[in-house]
Amino acid sequence: MAQMIVGGKAREAGSRARTEIRNPANGEVVDTVPRGDAPDADAAVEAAAAAFPAWARTAPHQRAALLQKGAALIGAHAAELATLLTREQGKPLRESSLEISRFSDILRYYAGLADKLRGEQVPLAERGKFGLVVRQPIGVCAAIVPWNYPVHLMGSKIAPALIAGNTVVVKPASTTPLTAIRCVELLNEAGLPPGVLNVVTGPGGTVGEALLTHPLVRKIAFTGETATGRHVMAVAAHEIKRVTLELGGSDAMIVCDDADLDAAAAATVINRFWNAGQTCIATKRLFVFDAVADEFLAKLVGRVERLKVGDGLAKDTRMGPLHTARQRDEVEAMVADAVARGAQVLTGGARPDDPACAQGHFYLPTVLERVDPQSRIAREECFGPALPVFRVADLDEAIARANDSPYGLGSSVWTADLARAQEAAARLEAGYTWVNAVQIDYDELPFGGYKQSGYGKERGTEALDYYTESKSIVMAT
Ligand code: NDP
Repeated sequence: MAQMIVGGKAREAGSRARTEIRNPANGEVVDTVPRGDAPDADAAVEAAAAAFPAWARTAPHQRAALLQKGAALIGAHAAELATLLTREQGKPLRESSLEISRFSDILRYYAGLADKLRGEQVPLAERGKFGLVVRQPIGVCAAIVPWNYPVHLMGSKIAPALIAGNTVVVKPASTTPLTAIRCVELLNEAGLPPGVLNVVTGPGGTVGEALLTHPLVRKIAFTGETATGRHVMAVAAHEIKRVTLELGGSDAMIVCDDADLDAAAAATVINRFWNAGQTCIATKRLFVFDAVADEFLAKLVGRVERLKVGDGLAKDTRMGPLHTARQRDEVEAMVADAVARGAQVLTGGARPDDPACAQGHFYLPTVLERVDPQSRIAREECFGPALPVFRVADLDEAIARANDSPYGLGSSVWTADLARAQEAAARLEAGYTWVNAVQIDYDELPFGGYKQSGYGKERGTEALDYYTESKSIVMAT
């Protein structure tokens, strides 16, 4: 039975209550986890605070060596971890395997930066004095993680936090705690001192809230819905806690009339249907030039219809179930709303009739055309496998409509014309723009949204700015 890990030790909830974790493909119970409460979160914060002074003083190369060892241990357990991730989250096994290897990669990436974090020496106008700017760790960081990428999004928080000398309390989503717990166990096994990395499980409303309000938590790294992010920022404001927020998105993809339509159609399938569409940087609105729309849609629909939907553990599955019934119902409601407003379903638009899918939260990959721009699927974030396609006259119209959103996470443009690509990249209001490339994020590049998609950056060397304070020192000689 999975346990919380606090101060290097397994911990049951004070209340002894446990929550069942169910497989989204068939409803079976995978395991149970402690249903923690505020006192459990407090204990984890206190353990992290006690471990902080020594960890902050540890030599950077020693911190790096521990993360490298942890990455190797994760790699050695990759098959076990990937299977567990598919069973609790639903994604196909090959996607889970990739997520686990990306977790090891991000640990290694930040381990490699440990001894490259430097300050500056600054000349001052006054004679006999000079200035230094140094970077210091912040203290205890809370990492609040959603269910769609429970392992990789934990990695993008804990790796830069730990390497910069902070200690961490992880709060996984209530429905996907198992693989995260196992990863934290392995990292502790790799030799992290007790209390440096802790994990507490339980509802966001109690355990999460206790982390937000605890005075010893100095930084909150949050990924989740924009509405929750707004709340996190408001609570953090009370004690001026540091925050980074990675929130919702409604990424636009633009396909111009000179694009390689086969490549664009192949990319769309990954952009929209990877992880059953439950990706923050999924393509959630597609704008295609009128002149090539029919040809592009025929290619796209052909590819979407070849996606095999089923249990993520089956070898031939290309798209698993939605993570919860609530997610599936939400996508279904958005498609119904679009259809009621005149949208045409080009493929999907229903639950699969395969009896093997009857016990899971499955929904067919769906492409919609002639969608009313006022439909929910056009205005809100659709966190599932349904893609509205809009015809546009030219690039100006595509960019204007792409930017007509409260979100600004990612975007992509497909064109053979470099001038058009540059124009789009400059004008699209989003933290990422891919040109003729699949919307895959890189650990080496800063990641974060414009507008209501977030605040601050994760990944890249930039993430270290969000896990350190810069301190000015004046030295009189
Ligand atoms: P939620 O905001 O519902 O939950 C995210 C995390 O916050 C969970 O661990 C949740 O715990 C916790 N939480 C909930 N309420 C509180 C609270 N009051 N205080 C502290 N923590 C709380 O998001 P989802 O899990 O539904 O994730 C999907 C969303 O995440 C989508 O909108 C998606 O776009 C976004 N996302 C953004 C990414 C980005 O990088 N920009 C990347 C991936 C996803 P519990 O599970 O217990 O409720």
